[in-house]
Amino acid sequence: MKITAIRTKLYQWKGPVKTIDTVFATPVSLLPFQEDAQAAYRFFSWLVVEIETDNGLVGYGNAGLSPDVTKLIIDSKFKSLLIGENPLNNEYLYEKMYRSSVAYGRKGSVIAAISAIDIALWDIKGQAAKQPVFMLLGGRTKEYIPTYYSRLYTRNLDQLQQEAAHYKAQGFTGMKLRCGYPLTEGNAGLKKNVEMVRKVRETVGDDVEIMLECYMGFNFNYSRQLLKELEPYNLRWIEEMLLPDEIHNFAKLKNYTDIPLSGGEHEYTRFGFYDLLKADSLDIFQFDTNRVGGFTEAQKICTLAYMNGVEVIPHGGQMHNLHVVMSSFASPMAEYFPQTEIEVGNEMFWYIFDGEAVAENGKLQLDDNKPGMGLTLKTEGLEHFNIIE
Ligand SMILES: [Mg+2]
Repeated sequence: MKITAIRTKLYQWKGPVKTIDTVFATPVSLLPFQEDAQAAYRFFSWLVVEIETDNGLVGYGNAGLSPDVTKLIIDSKFKSLLIGENPLNNEYLYEKMYRSSVAYGRKGSVIAAISAIDIALWDIKGQAAKQPVFMLLGGRTKEYIPTYYSRLYTRNLDQLQQEAAHYKAQGFTGMKLRCGYPLTEGNAGLKKNVEMVRKVRETVGDDVEIMLECYMGFNFNYSRQLLKELEPYNLRWIEEMLLPDEIHNFAKLKNYTDIPLSGGEHEYTRFGFYDLLKADSLDIFQFDTNRVGGFTEAQKICTLAYMNGVEVIPHGGQMHNLHVVMSSFASPMAEYFPQTEIEVGNEMFWYIFDGEAVAENGKLQLDDNKPGMGLTLKTEGLEHFNIIE
C-alpha cells in the first residue's frame, strides 16, 4: 500500500458565536493591561487532514491547536516526506517526521502536525485491518468509557448551580468547572474561586466527582494558597495550575497538598512526559492525542504513566482520545465536551465530523464493528464554514 495524496482542510467558523460569560483564568490573565484574557484561548477554526492510498482508502486526522500554522507545516514540510510511503509503517513514519523537524519542532504546532498525520495513518491501518483503532492498540479494557462533563464556564453562582444539577440529573458522575477569577484579583478573587467550588459541591453532594480547571493561570504562591483552601471539597483533581514549563514548581506543590494535580494538556511527546515523571510532578496526565504525537506516541506515554502510578485522562474527548482510553488500563475515563452552540471552540469538532460518540447516562461507547477511527466528514450543514484547502 502507498500514500498517494495528502490534503489539509482548514475549517474556519464564520457563523454565530454565543457570547456567554466564559470567564476563566489563563496565562495571559497575569499580565497587566488585559481587557480580554480569554481572547488568545478561544479558537474558531479546526484542521482536517485527509490521507489517501493507492487502494482507495482515506484516513482522517485533525488538529485543533493553531490549525492555520499546523496546516502550513504539513503542506510545506511533511507532505513530501510521506507521498509514496507505506501508510502502515506508522512507527517509521513518526520517526521520519519527528527527526526531520527536530531542529525547529519538538513541541507545539510541529508535533500537532505530526499528530494529525499519525491519527490519519492509524485510521487507514484500522480500515485495512477492518478493525477499530482501539482493537489494534490494546483492545477493549472496559465495558464502556466513563466520562465527566466539561463545561460550567459561568461565574454566576445561581447559574453554576443550575448547570451542575442539570448534568447530575443527566447521569454524569463527574464534572469540571473553571476558575472564574484571575490571579490579578488577589485574595478576594481566590476566595470567590473557592466559593464557586463550594457551591458546586453543595449542589451535587458527595457522590459526584468535581474537577477544577486553572488553565495555566496562576503562580506558585497563589496555587499553594488555593490548594490549602480547597482541601475540604474533595476534588478529583485540580488542573494546570501553572505554566507547562514549571515542572519544578508542580513538584513542589505536590508536596503541599493531597489534592491530585493534573496537567500535560500542553506537553508533547514521550520525552516531555518522561520529564514530568522524573520530577514526580503530576498525578494525572491529560495529553490530547492530536497534540502529543498521535496514537504512536500516546500508547508509549500510557505505558510510562501506568508504570509510575499516574492516570491518563486525555484532554477533550473526541474519537482519537476515546480509542486510547478504551484500549489502556492507564486511563479510567474521558473528558466530554458536549455539543453546544459555538462558544469557545472546544465544541467545533461536532460540526465537522459524523460518528463522534455521544454520552448516554454519563457513559460513552465505541462500536466493535466500525473500522478505523469511525469518523467521516460532514457533507451537509457546512454553510457556516469557510473551508480553505
Ligand atoms: Mg484543561
